[in-house]
Amino acid sequence: MSETKKIAIIGSTGSIGTQALEVIRENPQHFSVEVLVGNSNADLLIKQALEFKPNSVVIADESKYKQVKDVLFNEGIKVFAGAKAVEQIVESESIDIVLACIVGYAGLASTINAIKHKKTIALANKETLVVAGDLVTSLARENAVNIYPVDSEHSAIFQCLAGEWDNKIEKIYLTASGGPFRGKTRKDLETVTRAQALKHPNWSMGAKITIDSASLMNKGLEVIEAKWLFNLKPEQIDVIVHPQSIVHSLVQFEDGSMKAQMGLPDMKLPIQYAFSYPARIKNNFKRFDFFNYPTLTFEKPDTETFTNLALAFEAMKQGGNMPCVLNAANEIAVDAFLNDKIKFLEMSAVIENCLAKTSLIQKPTYQQYIECDMETRKLAATFIK
Ligand code: NAD
Ligand code: MG
Repeated sequence: MSETKKIAIIGSTGSIGTQALEVIRENPQHFSVEVLVGNSNADLLIKQALEFKPNSVVIADESKYKQVKDVLFNEGIKVFAGAKAVEQIVESESIDIVLACIVGYAGLASTINAIKHKKTIALANKETLVVAGDLVTSLARENAVNIYPVDSEHSAIFQCLAGEWDNKIEKIYLTASGGPFRGKTRKDLETVTRAQALKHPNWSMGAKITIDSASLMNKGLEVIEAKWLFNLKPEQIDVIVHPQSIVHSLVQFEDGSMKAQMGLPDMKLPIQYAFSYPARIKNNFKRFDFFNYPTLTFEKPDTETFTNLALAFEAMKQGGNMPCVLNAANEIAVDAFLNDKIKFLEMSAVIENCLAKTSLIQKPTYQQYIECDMETRKLAATFIK
């Protein structure tokens, strides 16, 4: 790689954001930070800005504006606040790559605006494609924008496809760790606690995706994400539980040949690949040792216990606004679970009720997606006492 790529990290104070900064810190000759965006953790955002000296910083929480500005103004760093500023900052002329790593629906608007302004996207925020995959991918095509996956499974598929662009995919297998509750029955799940759900066996991530991993909703969202990223039909996507999280996903081509991408579970690798693609950059991340993993195992996901995965497949098959409903209901349900308002299994009930009570819109406009998200949030709240 010759020139330094200037990166905007939209969600820099989170799990993906901080790991992206680690990648950049190790590779100052390849990458620099142009923009940092955070929600409300002003202290961390300031610390990051003082180290990486971006051009601009945005804090979504306007009540923290003064705190951030008072420190960064003297450093010559521009500071903005509010949701509109988050959306607009991605337009900056000098940005080469936008890393979309806000969590949830909140990441949609800035990613859409970045695509409209022809910025290359490194996409961690899977909810963007779940909510409005048709709209986002057609916008990307119209603007000749590349969306590089950061989600480890999708990065795996993308890496398997390098050099195979003209070859048809027969199907893909997304691997799933199975989360902390793999092997449990519905009876067991009735009493699991928030603390248990927040303990993922292989990955350390933000709270929302950790709960999604425990309920298998994360894999459901990833199935829909894969459909849009790789232009697949629902029947071309399969999920396989692989508790060791070493095989990150697989592609099967028309001749039956399968390619897998492997490595230790570490999000820094897919983040780095999305930044450096098509090049690979040398690093000193820990290497895989076969003798620490004498067996790699694969099993069928239990969709009767973990109904969220079945609900996601169903929403994808129905299409239109249904994945948007699934996502909004899930965001409300996860938030309620994290605040001890509902039990683990009740999350699926909220989602199922919302899907059942919403009418299908075949090809929603952006405005209709926004309304559908808002309406579903209200509806979901009525199922939470
Ligand atoms: P996180 O909760 O740790 O971080 C979220 C970030 O988004 C924070 O910087 C927060 O300040 C910011 N944010 C949240 N709401 C915002 C708003 N309204 N406006 C501006 N900023 C806002 O989450 P995470 O684990 O880093 O996950 C981020 C995204 O990446 C999610 O979509 C997740 O599914 C995806 N992802 C994460 C991992 C992982 O290992 N953490 C792996 C694959 C995919
Ligand atoms: Mg993933």
